[in-house]
Amino acid sequence: MHRLSSHYILRRFKITSLFYLLVFLSLPFSVGFFAYGLYADDAAWMQYAGIALGSSLLLKILSVLMAGRVKCPLCMAAPLTNLGCAKHRSAQTLFGSHKLAVATSVLFEGKFRCPYCGETTAMQVRDRDGSRNLR
Ligand SMILES: [Zn+2]
Repeated sequence: MHRLSSHYILRRFKITSLFYLLVFLSLPFSVGFFAYGLYADDAAWMQYAGIALGSSLLLKILSVLMAGRVKCPLCMAAPLTNLGCAKHRSAQTLFGSHKLAVATSVLFEGKFRCPYCGETTAMQVRDRDGSRNLR
């Protein structure tokens, strides 16, 4: 299992995954607020939908900007972006998305499997002397 080279990259992985997950969750909420606003004919719910949609758009922009700089330590591909490259034959998906599978496993399992090379990386920083950090 591979490890990341610095705490900076580890923090960037977690923040980008959190942003991606929030975008994934906020879009259904904004659609739900909008639909309820139409159903109840209430302008306040339309404002909530606008706020949720605007915040999800902002989070999407931030996650796209950050995701290009988060790279797999083995193949140097960005697992939270869609590069258009062929995925590994055993790449995992969640609701049909490789990026969502990577983001949820980074946040909840403490590791991820790169969809491009298929190797597993722990959300841990390797020691400077090259020894394994097995804490
Ligand atoms: Zn990789």
